[in-house]
Amino acid sequence: MILVFNNDASEKDIQFAISKIESLGYKPHLSRGVIKTIIGVTGDDRSISEIEFNQLPGVEEVLRVLKPYKLASRDFHPEDTHVSVNNTEIGSGSFTVISGPCSVESEEQIEKSASLLHQYGFKFIRGGAFKPRSSPYSFQGLGENGLKILKKGAQKYGLAVVTEVLSAHDVDMVGEYTDVFQVGARNMQNFALLKALGTAHKPVLLKRGMMAKIEELLLSGEYIMKGGNSRIILCERGIRTFETATRNTLDIGAVPVIKRWSHLPIIIDPSHSMGDWHYVPAVSLAALAAGADGIILEIHPDPIQAKSDGKQSLNFDNFKILINRLKTLAGAMNITIQ
Ligand code: PEP
Ligand code: MN
Repeated sequence: MILVFNNDASEKDIQFAISKIESLGYKPHLSRGVIKTIIGVTGDDRSISEIEFNQLPGVEEVLRVLKPYKLASRDFHPEDTHVSVNNTEIGSGSFTVISGPCSVESEEQIEKSASLLHQYGFKFIRGGAFKPRSSPYSFQGLGENGLKILKKGAQKYGLAVVTEVLSAHDVDMVGEYTDVFQVGARNMQNFALLKALGTAHKPVLLKRGMMAKIEELLLSGEYIMKGGNSRIILCERGIRTFETATRNTLDIGAVPVIKRWSHLPIIIDPSHSMGDWHYVPAVSLAALAAGADGIILEIHPDPIQAKSDGKQSLNFDNFKILINRLKTLAGAMNITIQ
């Protein structure tokens, strides 16, 4: 349910409505937009009735939200959400490049990657220390030691860390090293993890499951938001279809759909979508053109030697070429790359 206030509604009217909502046992979510002030109401959907709110002073309209997700919906929060990480805002109109290796492998690898990203003025480094591999025999990551290496390299160059957390049990430990928790595609519906991240005090990069609908991605975001953490960055990383020419099928159309349905920022992962570095530049440019808020990109100083996902990782020369092309396109769109 949403209460839309008329333009003359006073602060007293708004506070009165908030108390009324709380007295009925529901939760108010106030959103003060440039044009309208609204209050979203959450609680047991079946028992909330419009009649309770229609007559409240200052209320222009009471709307029922039919979508199963509420807090993540644009109806509840018409303005775009900006997720701030170490003074860099994701979702505020700039195109954010989060980049780094698939896995943290060594100090040297992170040093080289962090130095390159810093040289280009980027603000984030990604790297997995706990890897969700399809095979138990594949490299599983360096664990906590990998997080130490990543944090050290990031701090040296003033970069924010984005790294994956695999289980609810690890949230506190990973939180000591990371600035953004990444939830991988395989964990999009790990509800215990989502709930744990709901009470964490750091942003979450939530990847779409390879067999998940957009609505399910938003419902997973809703789990985190319900716990009180609304700093979520959604990520489209390709879904599984009958096509085998690419690792996954990038659903570029998810960008405008999510922009319409939700206020949360949405970024694209060209690397896991395509699975082959040759295709990564084209879809990175497509992400920018489609209105995504950024990309998360795998790079490696020597992709052939990479312990995971080398095939889809750009080497530094190709990374530089891509960034220059992105800058040209961004210039034409009047968007800054950060
Ligand atoms: C990753 O980012 O390295 C990763 C494992 O991604 P995904 O969860 O999208 O497969
Ligand atoms: Mn990877």
